[in-house]
Amino acid sequence: MKNSLLFKLLGAFLIVIAMGALVMTWLTSRATEKAFSLYTTRNGQYWAEILSPSLADFYLNKNSWQGVAAYLQTFSGVNMNMGAGGMMGQGRGFGKGSTNGNAVMSMSGQRLILADAAGTVIADTGGSLIGNLLEPGTLSSGAPILANGEQVGTLVVTPDTLVAGTPASDFLTSVNKAIMSSAGIAAVLALIIGALLFLQIISPVRKLNQAAAAITAGDLDQRVSIKSQDELGDLGSSFNRMAESLSKAEDQRKNMIADVAHELRTPLAAMQGTLEGIQDGLMPFDREQVDSLLAETTLLTRMVGDLRLLSLADAGELVLEKRMTSPGSLFESIVERAGSLAQVKGISLNLSLQPDLPSIWVDPDRITQLVNNLITNALRYTPRNGEIRLNVAHAEGDSSLQVSITDTGRGIDARDLPYVFDRFYRAEKSRSRSSGGSGLGLAIVRQLVEAHGGKVTAESPVFTREDGTRYGTRISFSLPLGGN
Ligand code: ATP
Ligand code: MG
Repeated sequence: MKNSLLFKLLGAFLIVIAMGALVMTWLTSRATEKAFSLYTTRNGQYWAEILSPSLADFYLNKNSWQGVAAYLQTFSGVNMNMGAGGMMGQGRGFGKGSTNGNAVMSMSGQRLILADAAGTVIADTGGSLIGNLLEPGTLSSGAPILANGEQVGTLVVTPDTLVAGTPASDFLTSVNKAIMSSAGIAAVLALIIGALLFLQIISPVRKLNQAAAAITAGDLDQRVSIKSQDELGDLGSSFNRMAESLSKAEDQRKNMIADVAHELRTPLAAMQGTLEGIQDGLMPFDREQVDSLLAETTLLTRMVGDLRLLSLADAGELVLEKRMTSPGSLFESIVERAGSLAQVKGISLNLSLQPDLPSIWVDPDRITQLVNNLITNALRYTPRNGEIRLNVAHAEGDSSLQVSITDTGRGIDARDLPYVFDRFYRAEKSRSRSSGGSGLGLAIVRQLVEAHGGKVTAESPVFTREDGTRYGTRISFSLPLGGN
């Protein structure tokens, strides 16, 4: 769990939240300070304008600024560093109309700076600027003190922002605290919501992991149910498809073993029965028995050969001895050799060769084997007086040769058609071994055609009789031309 995806995602999320909260806190507190300072400057100007008539009265009374520091201190309510004894200014006169206690209270935390006509500081409730010349900018933020129409000084009222315990600094501190705690609360909420979201993302991944582990342990029926319409949902569907094909392949493997065992057992049991009969003296050991034993052995040898070919093709180890071959002579010799058997069965076997066919790049022995499989099938399922036609053609510009073998037999049922190329598939399940093969013929045809880079298809029925009934089968395949 220590290195789980959830913790990694949450860690990354936490870093993003912390950065966001820090930037937000910093920006907000800076903006607040700026706005607050603008406010206090305006507030200072306001107060300076209110106080300046009182100071003008003071000046007119004394005709100088003598003792003004003590007088200023009565307004600010703050001890001054100039040595003058502090007195609360509550209730003292402000001159024109500003004599209430509230005004004095609002003044606390404000610093009063009085400059003479030349701009030199002569009193400062903050104490540090006495004797200094004020900048023109600072002077312009104050209020001029006019005595008989002449400017005798300037009063600047400015907040003591940085002095701890003053309302201004208290205000900023509490605003900063509020910003920080709201950032903290937002971070915790984001983390909780993030954790819930991440759990939602991670739970399908965990499901997939468990299903994969179960499949590894051999439970091929494991599937996952991931409903989300996103990449994880797609991954779940792909996983299920993979599990499906694994389970199919496993079923095929099991069926294959069962089929092989079944197919081998039948001729072996027949041979064993014959041999035991001979041994017990119940059967004569004559030519007929030897022929029967030889027929069973031939069947077995052929089937083992077929299986070997299929397994070699599966493993990609089927060696094809390809050479440039003339299709005309190849198909003529195949048809010629099958001709006698067709004749015995009363079926006409015809070859239709397009003139001037290009050469093909194939293993002639394998092509003979696959065409023989097709002819054997056609001969088996075509009644007497029927016809089998092998058609070989090439379309201009096509890179392959088209071969088809069409018979006038009973055809293949639509339900069987999709499966005839499967191993051990026989349309008539009850057919006795003597009348047919093991269902490997068309599987081999497909393997050999595909090993040559071609495709094979089955079509049935292909003809319609006058009474409307349909019949006949056509197997078509392609073969690569020479030079490809
Ligand atoms: P094997 O070829 O191994 O001796 P098989 O002939 O039964 O055995 P396939 O050649 O693979 O096996 O054919 C599969 C099935 O397809 C056959 O059992 C048969 O039912 C059907 N089939 C194949 N060719 C034809 C055809 N020309 N007409 C009608 N049915 C056919
Ligand atoms: Mg066959």
